[in-house]
Amino acid sequence: MLLDQPTNVSLNDLEKIVRPLRKAERVAIMSGAGLSAESGIPTFRDAGNGLWADVDPMAVASIDGFYRDPAKVWAWHNDLRSRLAGATPNAGHRCIAELEALLAPAEVLVITQNIDGFHQEAGSHSVLELHGTVKRIRCHRQCGFAAPWEDVVPERCPACGALVRPDIVWFGEALDSEILERAADAALAADVFFVIGTSGVVQPAAGLAVLAKDAGALVVEVNPGETNLTEFADYSARTSASEFLVALCRALRSAG
Ligand code: NAD
Repeated sequence: MLLDQPTNVSLNDLEKIVRPLRKAERVAIMSGAGLSAESGIPTFRDAGNGLWADVDPMAVASIDGFYRDPAKVWAWHNDLRSRLAGATPNAGHRCIAELEALLAPAEVLVITQNIDGFHQEAGSHSVLELHGTVKRIRCHRQCGFAAPWEDVVPERCPACGALVRPDIVWFGEALDSEILERAADAALAADVFFVIGTSGVVQPAAGLAVLAKDAGALVVEVNPGETNLTEFADYSARTSASEFLVALCRALRSAG
């Protein structure tokens, strides 16, 4: 399928996006690691950063790695959690939360690939976490045990004795089918679908933007660089997530 190139949209020219947003009944926002980059959390593909440098993701963040060496996987996730603990949501997360009020009565749903919990911390009420969260642990056997991730984590599930693990979707694992279904429904129903700070290489998350486009949504990409999803976007804002979102909220407030 050959698609038109998206129209670049500048921060001085957000009317093209404000107008359809004002008419929208359902807005979905898919976010990725780029949104949290401005909180100081390295993205997955940033070269040479501390989080992913010198590690084999398959050893520390895959289901096979967990079976092979749970202690190594826990050590890496503990490190990840302590890095996240020192970081806070940025203006981009806060603006996304503010969109709920600015666009009411339209429904605003966030679909995130991030595991940092920043959308909820910033005040968003409807968030689907496709890849889980670093804020929770659960029973690996999924007997029903889940708890906030406190400093001391039991090695074994108190209910069934299976191993306890972070509530994160690792490489080699399927996404929670109910969450994925709700995300797909939101993509199909969206009037406007934002794709913010994601490279669009991780499936099935990336496919949601294609689904939204095929179902007729206006797709708006926000990313300093081109991505796999650029060809599916109607508009591309080649800027940082927070710069774009701050400008968008300002435009909506003054149009309101
Ligand atoms: P990715 O690392 O593959 O891509 C990040 C994208 O963000 C790139 O396209 C980059 O150009 C863009 N970007 C960088 N800075 C930006 C900014 N300031 N504003 C807007 N865009 C910016 O990330 P992904 O597509 O989300 O996929 C990586 C996977 O790794 C996901 O599954 C995610 O769960 C996980 N991850 C999560 C976190 C987190 O929770 N904060 C961090 C790293 C990785």
